[in-house]
Amino acid sequence: MLFLTKYVSKSVLYICIRRYKTETAVRVRFAPSPTGYLHLGGLRTALYNYFFAKKHNGTFILRIEDTDQTRLVPGAVEQLQEDLQWSGIIINEGPTQGGTYGPYLQSERLDIYRKQLKVLLDNGSAYHCFCTDKRLQLLKKESLRNQEIPKYDNKCRHLSKENVQANLESGKPSCIRFKITDQEESFDDLIYGRIAYNISLNEGDPVIVKSDGFPTYHFANVVDDHFMNISHVLRGVEWQISTTKHILLYRAFNWKPPLFGHLPLLMNSDGTKLSKRQGDIKINHFRETGIFPQALINFIVHSGGGFTKDLERNVKPKCYSMEELTQQFDITKINSHSGKVMEERLIQFNKLELHKKINDSNELEKLVTEVKELLKVAFPKRVENNSIQLNDDQIRDVLRWSATRISKLSDLVSKKFKFVWFVPTHSTVINDEIETLALVKSRLEKKLDDDMSDVNVLLKEFCQDHGIKYREFMHLLRYVLSGIEEGPSIAEMMSILGKENTIKRLEMYINKTKV
Ligand code: GLU
Repeated sequence: MLFLTKYVSKSVLYICIRRYKTETAVRVRFAPSPTGYLHLGGLRTALYNYFFAKKHNGTFILRIEDTDQTRLVPGAVEQLQEDLQWSGIIINEGPTQGGTYGPYLQSERLDIYRKQLKVLLDNGSAYHCFCTDKRLQLLKKESLRNQEIPKYDNKCRHLSKENVQANLESGKPSCIRFKITDQEESFDDLIYGRIAYNISLNEGDPVIVKSDGFPTYHFANVVDDHFMNISHVLRGVEWQISTTKHILLYRAFNWKPPLFGHLPLLMNSDGTKLSKRQGDIKINHFRETGIFPQALINFIVHSGGGFTKDLERNVKPKCYSMEELTQQFDITKINSHSGKVMEERLIQFNKLELHKKINDSNELEKLVTEVKELLKVAFPKRVENNSIQLNDDQIRDVLRWSATRISKLSDLVSKKFKFVWFVPTHSTVINDEIETLALVKSRLEKKLDDDMSDVNVLLKEFCQDHGIKYREFMHLLRYVLSGIEEGPSIAEMMSILGKENTIKRLEMYINKTKV
């Protein structure tokens, strides 16, 4: 079923974009159907529209395509808006924001569709179809039996006016179909070049308004793009097959179509479908598992072109801000082959973003609040009875210390770093060790610098001077300082606790034995 051809050079497209830009203000839309939650592919479409709008001082519109009432998922619209907001995408016009071209929910635009449908019925581009489901099923079966592509045979196209009238008067259920041509139609895709396709080879006249009175995607989408003054349609390549149909609808209305650009698929690095290896690809999932929005955005945009040189593959990964990405965005640089996500990069970007935030005093304060929230969730009882003693200064110190060591904020409340937040409780205290611990405590008190950089050397010297086995002594110190068996090295542990806390914990252990 190869019916798409490509034969226009990209330079022709540059001219196309330039021509359009000078004539029309850029107005783009992200038009999801609330049949599920926003996932990686959807966010990519939203982002590319957003960057394109921002780059050209244009308008980014959110339109909810909810005409398929049977597939609506409760709460999806709210979640969608929340996910977009979390990602840092600013919606200029939309269901919540309003705007002069509203309503922005298709289910609230039924009057508009009804009016426009009349235009197509009156000018003979559309017609009532009274075929029953049973007939359509039989038609399908028959085609399959004859090894033909199942498609509607356009029977009702040929009904006389009187016949249609009589059927309508007798209350026969009907839908409305749009007359497609049997010619090859073409358009210049901003990303793929010229696309030509003869729709009639694969389908009959499509339904544009269902028997329940609701428009189908194609009809509502074209009517809305026209009345919302959309200048460029940037959407996933899965919709490319529908675009020639849309062009025919524009022609039937005698409207000028917008420019179309289709974004290639996003795949895993091994070419498999995204959800197969990524597991949960819902945006909400990334958010809940501690991924920063800017890390996720960089992960997506590094996977399919559309940006100037800095972003290219072999450059050392950098987590770019929205402003930097907007500056670099260039629609002519989007690849027409599938984009491959490099799974391992997500965590790298998250680490870079965390590092950036820790070094920015405003962002650092927000992180302090977030850490407190994480602690509340991870250790609710301890928070309630105030047995977590760290104050904001200490959290800041921990964050600075962790900047190069962790990749997610939630790592700080993992088992490995639990010792940071509360003083350990010890089920057993061995008196024999007390003397050595008192000695090490006094040596550290005297000699340890506040920046803790010499802690390793000091501990080694201490063991040598006292003829103590280093490994065993480290084991003991780990138990005394953290109460746990695993975690970072003793030097790391001491440096995150800081000199004062380290000494305090040694002291508490020593004092316990004296009781
Ligand atoms: N409602 C369609 C979707 O879910 C919109 C496609 C388009 O952008 O035209 O993706």
